Amino acid sequence: MPTDYSRPLRLATQGTYRPSNVQERLKSTTVCVTADPGQLSCLQVLIGNLRRLPITVRLDPRASNLRGAVLDDLAALAAGIDPDRPLQFGRSTGTDLHVHVGTTPLGAGISGVPDGHGVRLRRAGHPFPTVHRGTGLGSVYTAAVLAAEVFKEIIDLAPNRHVKRDRIDLCPVTLAEPGVAAEISILDHHVLIGAGAIGTAVALILRELSATGTLAVVDPESFEEPNVATYSLGDLAAAAKRLPKVDILVQHLPGIDVRRHPIRALEYLNLVDNGNEPPPRTVLGAVDSIHARHEIARLHANLVLDGSTGGNVGTTVGLSEATFAGPCLRCYYPQQPSSKGQSAEQLLAQATGLRLDRIARGDLPLTKDDLRELSPNSRRLLSAHLGRPVCGLARALDLTARPDPGQFRPSIVFAAQQAAALVVGALIRHNTHPESISRDIEYDTLYGPQPGMVQKRNARHNCTCQTDAKLIQDVRARRNRHSTS
Ligand SMILES: [Zn+2]
Repeated sequence: MPTDYSRPLRLATQGTYRPSNVQERLKSTTVCVTADPGQLSCLQVLIGNLRRLPITVRLDPRASNLRGAVLDDLAALAAGIDPDRPLQFGRSTGTDLHVHVGTTPLGAGISGVPDGHGVRLRRAGHPFPTVHRGTGLGSVYTAAVLAAEVFKEIIDLAPNRHVKRDRIDLCPVTLAEPGVAAEISILDHHVLIGAGAIGTAVALILRELSATGTLAVVDPESFEEPNVATYSLGDLAAAAKRLPKVDILVQHLPGIDVRRHPIRALEYLNLVDNGNEPPPRTVLGAVDSIHARHEIARLHANLVLDGSTGGNVGTTVGLSEATFAGPCLRCYYPQQPSSKGQSAEQLLAQATGLRLDRIARGDLPLTKDDLRELSPNSRRLLSAHLGRPVCGLARALDLTARPDPGQFRPSIVFAAQQAAALVVGALIRHNTHPESISRDIEYDTLYGPQPGMVQKRNARHNCTCQTDAKLIQDVRARRNRHSTS
């Protein structure tokens, strides 16, 4: 059973400037990895992330001071994802892309290191500051940010679709510079809804944090072959058995009392309503549809931390912090996204800087005059289309794909992990700062995280969390009586 790379390949094809032969180009790409001592957690996640791309992954054990059982474990991890592309051992040849985990780059083009719960990333020639001991969250976030940088290097992305940053310094808990990590969160009857791309990444972070406590996991589906290359946990053996997704989490979270619910969110809601499950106080949302988010809203939890991936090519990640009193998840997702989706003309104007009144004259060919006022990036992007009618540009630039709730958008593991890091980061923040405001975070992983990507959200005045506030209080009171009687 060969590993199914169709989803990462589809994303690579959608994101690249040269969509032909993407598969062949990736097949001939080698990424060499080295690591400082003591960075095994991050190294392990990075190897898994790279193995989920159809490339060759090589580890230099001597430069990384690794031997014996550790190497066997890393080889087994890679083989569990793709036995036909085993982890290679050897030195960087100089022509491959060299990535390093730690602060002593050993000649690597890109290096990253966990600092507390956060990441510090440097391209060659940019030194690291002093860093603090990294946590499991810092390790996974760093591995995810490093994998995104690798993706940018090996795929020829359109110039308006990414930025290669010399430095990234961000903590997903504080959304500021990384530093000494606060106390690690202990789960207390939390509920994770969705054990898919983001849900398995949340579980991976909890495992690497050595989190303990109780976690209910709700997901009706089974783990299948295409999930191996897009999820953070689970291998081909688990896919062959078609294990319930909730059981993948049970397997990987030995320190947590996982209460398995292989059912839909709506059925779980019924269990809560009937007093068969305690009403959840904190819900970690890892679902991929508006519909499922509206079901989560009906749980009326004190706190919902909803992670998401989306955008035109599935690389935008987000976190919505919601509460029963508002903003609730309906405030964030009031309607189906197709009806609030932007027109191709608006997307084209945003992507290129062309004015809407110019785009409206779509049958006139694009001229040098049109490019004069635009940014250098936009000029570079559009100069290939000089002489062609403007009305065809949106399609040529692949801007017509509007979000559609029914349409499956491929997720890529580094985006799902960054969304999950925002979820767990918010969980830690709310444990240490219960008065935290409702934050709405969004960024494109192809640009990388940076301070300022957060907004405060208020409830929508005509949302049910406002108009039916009394009813919601009654429902919460009844559920609490059920659970204590
Ligand atoms: Zn609301």
